[in-house]
Amino acid sequence: MTELPTRRDFLRQTALAATALAGSSLHGVGAGGPPGQTSTALPWYRRTLRWGQTNITEMDPERYDIAWWRNYWHRTQTQGVIINAGGIVAYYPSRVPLHRPAQHLNGRDLFGELCRAAHEDGLVVLARMDSNRAQETLYRAHPDWFGVDGAGQPYRAGDLFVACVNSPYYEQHIPAILREIIERYRPEGFTDNSWSGLGRGNPCSCENCQKRFRQRTGQAIPNDKSWNNPLYRQWIKWNYERRLELWDFNNRITKAAGGPDCIWVGMNSGSIAGQSQSFRDYREICRRAEIIMLDHQSRSDATGFQHNGQTGKLIHGLLGWDKLVPESMALYQAGKPTFRLASKPEAEARLWMVEGIAGGLQPWWHHIGAYHEDRRMYRTAEPLYRWHKANQEYLVNRRPLATVGVVWSQQNTDFYGRDDSDTLVELPGRGLTQALIRARIPYLPVHADDLERDAAQFSLLALPNLAAMSDAQVAAVRHFVERGGNLLATGQSSLFTEWGEPRPDFALGDLFRAHRTQARHADDEATRRKWAADTAHSYLRLAPELRARMEGPPVGTEPLAPSTERHPALRGFEETDILPFGGVLEPLRTDDGAQVLMTFVPPFPIYPPETAWMREPKTDVPGLIVTATARGGRIAFLPADLDRRFGRDNLPDHGDLLANLVRWAAKDRLPLALEGPGLIDCHLCHQPGRAILHLVNLTNAGTWRQPVHELIPVGPLRVLLKLPEGVRGKSVRLLVSGQKSSAAVAKGWSRFQLNSLLDHEVAVLT
Ligand SMILES: [Zn+2]
Repeated sequence: MTELPTRRDFLRQTALAATALAGSSLHGVGAGGPPGQTSTALPWYRRTLRWGQTNITEMDPERYDIAWWRNYWHRTQTQGVIINAGGIVAYYPSRVPLHRPAQHLNGRDLFGELCRAAHEDGLVVLARMDSNRAQETLYRAHPDWFGVDGAGQPYRAGDLFVACVNSPYYEQHIPAILREIIERYRPEGFTDNSWSGLGRGNPCSCENCQKRFRQRTGQAIPNDKSWNNPLYRQWIKWNYERRLELWDFNNRITKAAGGPDCIWVGMNSGSIAGQSQSFRDYREICRRAEIIMLDHQSRSDATGFQHNGQTGKLIHGLLGWDKLVPESMALYQAGKPTFRLASKPEAEARLWMVEGIAGGLQPWWHHIGAYHEDRRMYRTAEPLYRWHKANQEYLVNRRPLATVGVVWSQQNTDFYGRDDSDTLVELPGRGLTQALIRARIPYLPVHADDLERDAAQFSLLALPNLAAMSDAQVAAVRHFVERGGNLLATGQSSLFTEWGEPRPDFALGDLFRAHRTQARHADDEATRRKWAADTAHSYLRLAPELRARMEGPPVGTEPLAPSTERHPALRGFEETDILPFGGVLEPLRTDDGAQVLMTFVPPFPIYPPETAWMREPKTDVPGLIVTATARGGRIAFLPADLDRRFGRDNLPDHGDLLANLVRWAAKDRLPLALEGPGLIDCHLCHQPGRAILHLVNLTNAGTWRQPVHELIPVGPLRVLLKLPEGVRGKSVRLLVSGQKSSAAVAKGWSRFQLNSLLDHEVAVLT
């Protein structure tokens, strides 16, 4: 299962792309001469590896020091810049009616001056639009261009009015601006900060929307938000389709005016929930896009730096690994709290950047405003960008190596997660992937609709509460298992249709060897949300119990010898017969061949202590079921939502058990082992002739509470790595520390040591 059926194709593609990339740098792309002059160069969206953005405020036309910023572009080896052009305000003298000039523009052609300077310096220019709001003058002239709420009032954001995606604002006004900018300035392409208009939380009831929805469905837009109403779900789908139409429409406009490479690429989020709220179908967008401009500027405490590495892998999984995904990385204090004009602590900004690079993203420094009194923010990008340039061939066009695929879908976020996707969908996914990172197990996100194409590279598919599944997705998982694949599923996986309607039983129940006997947590939305949100004083009992088999001293006086009777998934828990849980389970009927390794201990009081004893110490309600398939595969079904619990509660037992399950179900077919202390995110990749291990050190006092104040080194670390086809693996080059060493190679594995890891390191094995 670890062999890639398409590996040969991939190697060929990568070799071609790497050659072309090297060729383009020989032609001086990004370092002199307008891009696109050489016939052999790749289009800008395939070769622009380092980006930058000075996000212009309306005050800046009076103080924008272009010479200073040109020098900054040069110092940071930046190859492409995103320059504010039009939309809410224009940074050039526009002739489009009611396209309001920025407040302090005073006739200056700031966009034009910057665009010319960047082109003279050989940089790619993306004209940045912010197209979904306008001032009152435009609203008064064209009230039908703007969104209307259920009470018939226009949507407003501060003193601006919010435009509707079904109106001539998007079909005439914005295209006129795009054409004007192209004809006058010839930017390479366009981004747009808020192209997708009003989100799910602000449904539009304007006449344009009503007319189009009626044409489509024969019915009026539903007034009530009710996920159980099929018409509401149709409205959701209709909104998604409209954004895709806009994506295609904008590209037709820019290509017609600026040529085939003058593409419009919007902007997208690193949060699937955010994409859902904005009706942006990530998979469909990636099928259309040549490049993804990712607006995902900093971490949250809950998701950590590792979310950036994962986001890179998730988007490349949809887009392809030969394309680029630059990410806007805030150099100001972004997140909680936000201070637009204060520098983000360098260590915090740097860790976010290196995690993104490790996940396959391209850096894009981002400053708000063109003038800063906190000049420390200028210090962060330069050293990292210089390192990036020196080592760029190892940082793009690299294919990740992982035997564990974590299955996800946006429809699960929409139609199962509904208004509580963080608890129902994000937390289980986060808990599972955090357990994998903690255990140094390489994994890749894989979209449920791409399983037939992508699953064969994996030994194990993991379904972290992938509840809403279409029949086709269920069939693809089944197909994977029939071919000998292994499976780990948790919670309510496969218990709902793709529309979020409960099924009578798990669609994969025959594989889980477990079936529903009663309807409770799943069927009613409120019960489901409470079930996922609550923490109960409940436990899981491990089977078999070792206490009863123990002879000699009482528990706690002597460590017990590891038992041979317990299942390997419970390894490490020999000194306990129970684990803390926190969730609530309902009875399941199990099939022959199912082995129940944990059972539910129902909640009992915590306070006062006198009451804290188990009322029902034993039940037969299963918490964990393992089975072997007829084809020799392994299946673990974890009704106990330990992935969600670990995502929320961070108890090491839950992380250890999840990692155990993955190792067991994957039959230990993992390409990497890393020994040594610390929380380290491991990205293992392959290029023709070499393996690349990109390690990010997340061991820090600020790991779960931003910002990081200082970097703390860990090491030594011992690495054992399974060599991909065509890699000798005897020589190791470290791209950050600059050291070279040799590795011991035996039976297709390479072993070497890293003495110290500060923020990140890239080991190249040849
Ligand atoms: Zn509307």
